[in-house]
Order: sequence, then structure tokens, then C-alpha cells
Amino acid sequence: MSCLHNSTVFFKCKQYTCKILETREDFSELRMEVRSEQKAEQVFCPFCGGKVETHQVLTETIKELPFVPRTPIYLDIEKHQYICTSCHRTHTEKVPFKEEGTRLTKRLANWIRGLLVCRVPVSSISKLLGVHWDTIRFIQKKYITESLEKHTKSLKESGYKPKMLAVDEFAIHRGHKYATSVMDLDTGEILWVGHGRGLTDFSAFFAEYDMDYLSDVVAVAMDMNASFNRLFSEKMPWAEIVYDRFHMQAQFGREVLGSVRLEEARKHKENAKQLTEEMHTVSSENRQSMKDAIRVEKTHYRAVKRSRWSVLRSKDNLSEKAERNLQAILDSHENLAVCYAMKEEMNELFSLRNTEEASRRWLAWFEAAKSSGIPALVSFASHKESRIPGLIAHAKYPISTGKLEGLNNKIKVAKRDAYGYRDEDYFFSLIRFLSLPSIRAHT
Ligand SMILES: [Zn+2]
Repeated sequence: MSCLHNSTVFFKCKQYTCKILETREDFSELRMEVRSEQKAEQVFCPFCGGKVETHQVLTETIKELPFVPRTPIYLDIEKHQYICTSCHRTHTEKVPFKEEGTRLTKRLANWIRGLLVCRVPVSSISKLLGVHWDTIRFIQKKYITESLEKHTKSLKESGYKPKMLAVDEFAIHRGHKYATSVMDLDTGEILWVGHGRGLTDFSAFFAEYDMDYLSDVVAVAMDMNASFNRLFSEKMPWAEIVYDRFHMQAQFGREVLGSVRLEEARKHKENAKQLTEEMHTVSSENRQSMKDAIRVEKTHYRAVKRSRWSVLRSKDNLSEKAERNLQAILDSHENLAVCYAMKEEMNELFSLRNTEEASRRWLAWFEAAKSSGIPALVSFASHKESRIPGLIAHAKYPISTGKLEGLNNKIKVAKRDAYGYRDEDYFFSLIRFLSLPSIRAHT
């Protein structure tokens, strides 16, 4: 029981005497009586500075760090309530080892903080230490708020200002609810998280955020979301907007390559169906060649259907066989070949670092797309045409929102930690907290 002895010493140092009250036979619970030895003569009234007398002795029970997991230790603390001899107001003695706002000792609260920093889930901490979820959440919230405030203050003092930002939306509840986050691309820190992804939702960022801190920003990466674009041009006209290459490429893959590929596949299916219907109208000697033709259509159909990934991927990532198969498909499907070439060209445009060249070649790319006669490609180009400046800007500032994708892992961790995250502001602070460089080093 040397641990218990330590506790006794610990409380004595703080001018408390301590004795073990009772231990259950099975050691499932331990109680200690902790009595304040403070004398009224040593205390003065916090309101008027006058002398005080002991008014009554109050008892409060708080929880101490257990020595053995799941064996709670309760401290029954006897503390004084004093009454002032001059102004007659009462005040209660402050217990120095009690964590404010909780019924825990500071030592236990420190352990909880330590476990939270090591990313131990709230549920496990609760089980291990026998502390309620809400209390752990309270400690975490306080710790997060303090850490964020401390971090912001130290950044301001150091004179640091962000240069490149990324803004993107993410789903809170899959497909239902969205939030928007803003990242400092140099530090990887999340500067802001807010509800929604629309114009009014995101304008909260400009209302809440210290614009002076953002006065050195030269470029902001974002997807084609019109509200981000509009607000940044209006509120931070000094920053250049860079359209995110990954969003652009993904959309091209879906809306152009995907739809053209499905269209080609559909044609083969139609052909096969039509040939099958015509089978009975031809003479038996022609029937075999019909059968062959149907087989060819069906093979084409399957090959085109299966080419989804090889069409989207870069050629360098394909096996030799996959590359041969892809080439065969492209050779026999002109529209798909055109769109595939446009994709390859687009990838190259994103590797340009000269604004003039980028400008010339993006304009040419859009011209070619619009005159291709392929409906999906024409429509894509006309929709994106107004974003050309943001695409050219990528040559000068080759930034993307890709780093924010890494945030998705943080969000997963935050969702787990936040347990249902009914309190969304807490959830948002948690995401910001998890992105702090000092915390990232721990995870
Ligand atoms: Zn007083």
C-alpha cells in the first residue's frame, strides 16, 4: 500500500490530513477521508479583506486516480466555509488539488488529458478510470480550447502569416450534411471549420476570421464551388484563386471519360441485340457469320465496360497487358480515344510552371474540346470555361486541396473521439486541434 502512503504524503503537503476510511473486501472501491487543516486565522475575506470565522464544515466527494484499474478511489473532503466578521459574506475554501468544473482530482484530470493526447478513445478512458463520458468531454474541450488559444497567440507573437490556403468541403453525415474547412498549406494547420458549404455558410469564415492575419495570402486552392470562388474574390481580392487539379481531373473522369465509355459500351450492346433479332431472318449458311459478329460485339462490350480504371489511370501505372488492352480499345473507339488524349493533355497542362505557356495551351485545350463534337466533352468544356484563370494560376502556384484530403483521417479520428459528435462546435474544434503541428507529431 505504498501508493496509498504516497497519497497521504501528497495531501499533507497541501495542508490536508488523510486517512483511509474503508476498503471493500474485494478491493472494488476505496474511500479516504481528507480533512483540511486550514485555520481561520490564516484566511481573509475575498470580498473586503476582513477577518473570517469558520461558519461550517462542508463535505464534498471527489474521485482520485485509481491505483488499480476499475477500482475507484473516493476522497471525502472536509473543507471550511468561512464567514466574514466585517461584511458577513460567506466563502468556501478552495481545494487546491481539485480540477475546476469537475468532481475529480487534478491528478486524475491530468491523466485523462495525457490519455486523450495519446489518442486513447473516450470510451476506453471512461472504462479504465470509471469517469463519466461527459466529464472526459469537458476536460477535453477545455484542453482543446486552451491549446488552440495558446497556439494562435504564439503564432501572432511570432509574426507568422499564412501564404497559401486550401478550402474544401467535407461530408459530416454521408451525403446529408456538409462542412467547410480552410487549411494553411505550409503548416498543414486547419484555420477554420464551419457548417455547410453554401454562400452564406462560408461567409461566416470572413466574418469570424482575423483578416489581418490573412493579409499575406497570395493563393487559395479550391474546387469549382462557385460560392468559395465568389467570396474569396470579393473579400480577399489580393489572393489568386487556383482551381484544384484533383477535383478537375476527377470530374473529367466521371463526366467525360465515364459517360463516353458507357455510351460506347451501350452501342455494342445495342448492336449485339439487333444482330440477335435479325438471326432468324437470314439463311442458315449466313447464320455462322452472324454468330461471329454477335460474339465480337459482346467481347467489345465487355472490354469497354471493364476499361473503367485503365482509362482513368495514368499509363505509367498500367501493366503491359493492361496497356495493350487499353490501346486496342482506343484504336477501335474514336470518341473514347479523343477524350483519353484530352485527359493526357490536361495532366500535362497541370505540370506547366510558365504562366504564358499555360495560358496559351489551356485556351487551345478548351477550343479543341468545344469543337470535338462529342457532347460530354463539349458540355464539360463550356461549363468550365469561366474557370480558365484559376487553371492558368496553377502554373504560378502549383497548389491543390490534396492536403486537405489527409484531413479525412483526422475527421475519422475526431468522429470516433467525439462519440456521435452531437456537439458540432466541439467536433470542429477537435478537427482544428488534431491538425496542430504539435499534436500531429503525436498521432
Ligand atoms: Zn468581508
